[in-house]
Amino acid sequence: MNKEKVLELRESGLSYGQISKLLDMSRSSVISIVKRSQEPKCQWCGKRLHQKPGYHRLKIFCSDACRLKSWKANHPTK
Ligand SMILES: [Zn+2]
Repeated sequence: MNKEKVLELRESGLSYGQISKLLDMSRSSVISIVKRSQEPKCQWCGKRLHQKPGYHRLKIFCSDACRLKSWKANHPTK
């Protein structure tokens, strides 16, 4: 299976086109492998977010606490 190889090459900074040529597979399969492997992370603490399948609006924070902390950091009280 090329999946690990694809992700490895992607990590090292290669483009989808370069990876597809290197591993002799279509660009769209490279893209879908990379996309599927990407797990969203909390924008505040970096914890992995577990998206529910079929849930289309992307969560960016793992909890209300993180959302609040981030909001406060961006809105300092004077
Ligand atoms: Zn968080």
